[in-house]
Amino acid sequence: MKLKTVQDYTQGLLEGKRTALAQAITLIESKAPKHKVIAQQLIKEIYPHTGHSVRIGFTGVPGAGKSTLIDKFGSYLCKNGHSVAVLAVDPSSTLSGGSILGDKTRMELLTKQENAFVRPSPSQGTLGGVHLKTREAIFLCEAAGYNIIFVETMGVGQGEMIVKEMVDFFVLLALTGAGDDLQGIKKGLLEWVNLICVNKADGDNRLKAEVTAKEYESVIGFLHGHSGGWNPQVITTSAYEEASFQDLWKIICDYKEWMNKNDLFYTVRRKQMKAWLQASVNEYLQESFYGHPLVKQTLGDVEKQMMTGDVTMAEALERLIKTYQQAMKEI
Ligand code: GDP
Repeated sequence: MKLKTVQDYTQGLLEGKRTALAQAITLIESKAPKHKVIAQQLIKEIYPHTGHSVRIGFTGVPGAGKSTLIDKFGSYLCKNGHSVAVLAVDPSSTLSGGSILGDKTRMELLTKQENAFVRPSPSQGTLGGVHLKTREAIFLCEAAGYNIIFVETMGVGQGEMIVKEMVDFFVLLALTGAGDDLQGIKKGLLEWVNLICVNKADGDNRLKAEVTAKEYESVIGFLHGHSGGWNPQVITTSAYEEASFQDLWKIICDYKEWMNKNDLFYTVRRKQMKAWLQASVNEYLQESFYGHPLVKQTLGDVEKQMMTGDVTMAEALERLIKTYQQAMKEI
């Protein structure tokens, strides 16, 4: 990658140039030390220009219709004067080195909009941490003037929890009649999503979707009761009907207003900052621990000795920690 100066990146971003944004995201995702230094300077530089967007997360099993809905809903918002950026968190890329999302031609309609930015696919994870960079990518999009940021995740693995900590509003796309009704949804999700869309509610599927939506409503009522908080809403949606986009946008705006009225919008963001710091520390410690050659060697040794019963778990742990502490002293 050809390295530009911080001023080049900053200027390009603040002018809202899409190529500058794409390059800046590549820069912050880079693991090369010289890129990291510039990336951090860049984040500091643009920080005053961040924070004004609404950050919206989408999840759902593969095939739930996330890409299609984001494509169409995003285009609808662009036509109504908004500017929309789409990022994706793909936990699979850190595990397999491949990307589920990257294999698809994504969001053709939205890509053609002048005031939209679609990050084609998440970069391939090296040693995890791609999601930590997504938060910085959100800042970059905001500095480039985007006022709505969509973060898409797969309904697998850790994706949802990761994205929950970086968005203001979280949407679950659910299906009906595809073995993905209530039983298939992780219960925990229903406790904190802000909106459930029973999707593909069109044609023959419309009525079934409405029945499923009622089922979700009763589960939500049971889980939340009259808590006085924001109870998750349930609606039916179709990517082929504009009324769905109007419903979606209205609920998002209502939510933001409700959060602001209750002084919660920025309180939650501050809490997310704390969680981000914690996640970054965890990430750093893991990399520094497991990446250290002496720890690697000791780990291999104690694993073998544990198998043969020569050391206990407590002894293995003690040796590993001592090795690590020693290694740190020598730095
Ligand atoms: P993702 O894996 O969650 O991103 O799902 P996709 O957006 O790729 O959609 C999966 C399939 O469902 C595609 O063949 C879409 O054409 C179809 N699909 C998406 N949204 C709708 C919808 O609202 N109604 C109907 N009938 N089909 C849809």
